[in-house]
Amino acid sequence: MAAVLAVLAVLAVLGLLAFPHIERAYQIEIGDRDRATLDLATQVLRGAIGRTETLPGLLAERPILAQLLTDPENSGLVPFVNEQLRQTALSLGVSDVYLMDTTGLTIAASSYRTERSFVGRRFDYRPYFTDALASGRGRFHALGTTSNERGYFFAAPVLDGTEIVGVVAIKITLDAFEATWAESGATIIVQDMSNVIFLSDRADWHFRTMGPVPEVALEAIAATRQYPLSALRPLPVRRIPLRGTEYEIVTIEGDSGFETMVMQTGLIAASGWRVSILSPTAPARGQALGVMTIAGLAALFLSLVAATIWQRRIRLEERLVRQRSEQERLEAHVQERTRDLDAANAQLRQEIEDRIRAEAQLRKTQGDLVQAGKLAALGQMSAALSHEFNQPLAAVKAYAENAATFLDRDRVAEARENIGLISSMADRMATISKHLRNFARRPQDKTGPVPMRAVVSDAMDLMRPRLQAAGAQLAYAPPATEVWVTGGRVRLQQVIVNLIGNALDAMEDDPAPMVTLTLQVSGTRCLFEVADTGTGLADEALAQAFDPFFTTKPPGQGLGLGLSISYNIVRDFNGRLSAANRAGGGAVFTVELDLTDPPSDMAAE
Ligand code: ADP
Repeated sequence: MAAVLAVLAVLAVLGLLAFPHIERAYQIEIGDRDRATLDLATQVLRGAIGRTETLPGLLAERPILAQLLTDPENSGLVPFVNEQLRQTALSLGVSDVYLMDTTGLTIAASSYRTERSFVGRRFDYRPYFTDALASGRGRFHALGTTSNERGYFFAAPVLDGTEIVGVVAIKITLDAFEATWAESGATIIVQDMSNVIFLSDRADWHFRTMGPVPEVALEAIAATRQYPLSALRPLPVRRIPLRGTEYEIVTIEGDSGFETMVMQTGLIAASGWRVSILSPTAPARGQALGVMTIAGLAALFLSLVAATIWQRRIRLEERLVRQRSEQERLEAHVQERTRDLDAANAQLRQEIEDRIRAEAQLRKTQGDLVQAGKLAALGQMSAALSHEFNQPLAAVKAYAENAATFLDRDRVAEARENIGLISSMADRMATISKHLRNFARRPQDKTGPVPMRAVVSDAMDLMRPRLQAAGAQLAYAPPATEVWVTGGRVRLQQVIVNLIGNALDAMEDDPAPMVTLTLQVSGTRCLFEVADTGTGLADEALAQAFDPFFTTKPPGQGLGLGLSISYNIVRDFNGRLSAANRAGGGAVFTVELDLTDPPSDMAAE
C-alpha cells in the first residue's frame, strides 16, 4: 500500500509540474482561436476608417460649400447647405457632416435640426481642424464634446480657388463596432498611441490606460479635449508574455476581483491604434484541470489495478511459500516417520529373528529335555527291563536244555514244543526291544493323526516290567475302535509313560497299588486318564506340578521336568494336560486331545 501511495505522490508531483504546461497549451489554443476574430475586427475597423477617410476631400469639392464660406451672411444659403449636409450624412451613413470657417466656427451641420446641433460651435482646438488647415487632411478620434459620443473625425479644407476658406468634417461613431464585438465571447479593446483604451465592448474600460501616458500626450489630450482627463485612470494590469507565442497573459484587477485573460494585439498603422482581443483563461484552466482530473483518475485507477495485481501476486507468493514450507514439513515428517518405521521394522525383524532363534533354541532344549526325560525313564526302567529280559532268557535256556534232552531221547514232539516256546520268548523280547528303540528315538516335530489306542498299548508294553516290579495292578478297558487324535506318536507315548511312571512313584508306599487307564471320546475331543491310588497332590503340587523343576522327590530321584515337558507336548498338539485329586484318594491326570480323521497312509512318526 505504501508503494501505491508513493507512486500516487510521484504522480501528483508530476501532475503539478505538468499542469502549467497543459494549461499553457490550452491558453495557446484560446489565443489561436481568437486570432481570426481579432483579424476580422481589425479588418472591419481598418476598412471603415479607410472608407471614410476620402469622403471629406470629396465633399469639400462641392462649390456650394466654398460659396457659403465666402458668403457666410447669406441667410438663404445656410438652410440649404444644412439640409444638404444632413442628406449627405444620411446617405453616407455617418454620424455628422459639418462645415467650419477658418476660425473653426461651425456654420452649417447635418445636425442643425437637433438639440446637439454643431451649428455655431467652435472646434478650432481639434487637431483634425488644424491639421486640415495646415496639411490638407485631418483625422482624429475623440469623445465628442457636443454629442458626448466617441467618434472618429475626418476633415479636409474647402478651397475657393487656391485659398482655404474653411474645413469640412465628417464624424463616424464607433459604438456599432463595440456592439458587434460584444456578441463574440472575447473582449476587444482598441488603444491609441497614448495607451488609452479608446474603444472596447467593456464600457467600464473606456478611457482607462493600459500603460503610462507620456506627459506631452497628456497635455495634448487636455489641449484638444480629446478625452475627459478625469476618466484617464490606469487599468491595474499585469502582463506576462505567453512563452513561445506573441500572446500575453494579462491579469486585470476589477471591481469583482481579478480576471486573467489571454491577450493578443494587432496594429492599425493608419491610425496608430492597437487592437487587442482578450479571452478569459478560465476555460483553459478548466480544461487543464479536467485533463489532470482524468489523468489523475486514470493514474489512480491504474495504481489501484496495479496494487491489486501486485497484492494478489504477493498473496499468491505467500501462499506458495506457505504451501512449499507445509510440503517440506510434511515431507520431513513423512521421512521421519519412514525412518521411524524403518527402524521399527528393523527392530521387529530383529525381534522376529530373535524369537525364531529363541523358539528354535527352546525346541531344541525341549527336545533335549524330552530325550533326557526319556533316558531318565529308561534308567528307571532298566532294572525292570533287565528282569524282563533275564526271565525269558532263563526260560529260553531251560527250554533249550529241555529240547536237547527230548531230542536225545528221540522225543521229537516234546522237543519241538520247547523250541516253539523258545521262539515265542524271542518274539516277546523282540517286541520289548522294538518299543525301547522307538521310545529312545528322537521324535520328529511334525504332528498328524495318531492312533491313541495303539499308543496307549505301546506305552503299557513299555511300562509293564515296571508295573510288575511295583506289584501294581493296571486296569484298562481299551475302546473297541481306534481313536485318532492330532499329535506325535513318540511324544504322546512319552507323556503316557511319564504319567504311569509318576503314578507308580506316588504309590510306592501303597500296599495295593492300582493304576486305572481310561480312553474315551467326548465330543470332538479324546480324553485319556491316568488315575492312581497314591498320595494324591498336595496343594503346592496342585499349583505347581507343571512348573519345570518342581519336584517333591528326594534329590537324584526326580528332576521335576516330567510333567512340565508332558504339559508342553500336549499343548503343542492343541491339547490340555490337567491334574486333580480323586475323591477316594490318589491323583488323576487327564490328557485332552483333538479328534481327527485317520490318515490315508496311517503314518505319523
Ligand atoms: P518328578 O517326577 O521328577 O518329581 P514331575 O514333573 O514328573 O517330576 O512331577 C512333579 C511332582 O508332581 C512330583 O514331584 C510329585 O510331587 C507330583 N506328582 C506327579 N505325579 C503325581 C501323582 N500321580 N500323585 C501325586 N503326586 C504327583
